[in-house]
Amino acid sequence: MINIYPSYYKNFKCAAGDCADTCCAKWEIVVDEDSANFYKGIKTPFGDRLRSSLTVDTDGDTVFINRNNRCPFLNDSNLCDIYINLGGDKLCDTCAKFPRFSTSFGGSREWGISLSCPAACELIVGSDLELETVPDDDDPDLNELDAEVFLYLKKVREAVFSRIRDGFTLSGMLAFGKAVEENINNRDFSVPGFDDEGKLYFDKRILERFEYLTAEGREKFLSLSSLKEIKVDTVYKRIFAYYIYRYLLASVYDGRYYKPFYLSCLALSAIDALALQKGLQVSEAAVLFAKEIEHSDKNIDILT
Ligand code: SF4
Repeated sequence: MINIYPSYYKNFKCAAGDCADTCCAKWEIVVDEDSANFYKGIKTPFGDRLRSSLTVDTDGDTVFINRNNRCPFLNDSNLCDIYINLGGDKLCDTCAKFPRFSTSFGGSREWGISLSCPAACELIVGSDLELETVPDDDDPDLNELDAEVFLYLKKVREAVFSRIRDGFTLSGMLAFGKAVEENINNRDFSVPGFDDEGKLYFDKRILERFEYLTAEGREKFLSLSSLKEIKVDTVYKRIFAYYIYRYLLASVYDGRYYKPFYLSCLALSAIDALALQKGLQVSEAAVLFAKEIEHSDKNIDILT
């Protein structure tokens, strides 16, 4: 198996109690079955606390019952009581992995860290995306991906990375994404050119269709006066590269090839609008977009 990592991946370190926006608040934490069974079997007062903090949500997932919108194990110092009492190897999968993500493509697996974590965001915006390849002895995963489309998307991604370095407009990138989708649907595997005179754009009303993590977040996004073309500087190029890296190849699985372009451009425009209209740092706005909008499967699903 070939593993692919952004070069900043190995530098990630959770800020723990010093985190400005801990991932242990606001989100519902889904507990995997093995961890839930382990927690239920602990015969100590801490085990009683674990058992009384688990429930099953409307989707049938086992989750921790948040208290005041915080994980019940996030203590007053913003440290994790499960980590303190049981050790890091006893965290459930969700907590052990976040903010890391991975996507398997059969013979290769791509890894990354999520923009929604402030410490990860700092790394993502702090350097250009460079990818490192690390082989291991794992067998390839079974998969049903369309190999021709997958190889084409890899070529397209290289073309996008090159274009990011040279500079681009959002409307031109959207037009390019549309042409890529049309080509794949016609089984035409030529990479289209970039035309920065593109006229495609998105409607601000898309923001009204999203679900939001918090009421404050929703208010911030819905009160933006507009979503516009932006000046794509170095930091925006790095955020764009993050989105393309995370979502473009993965579109081989759902056949919605324009969606990664739309999401990446929408993210940049919304982040820029938040920064300008709400007085946020670009990195704060990027974390907010990722937390409030990107991390909802429902939101990703309704993108055009
Ligand atoms: S958001 Fe990131 S830095 Fe903050 S507590 Fe979670 S993993 Fe750690």
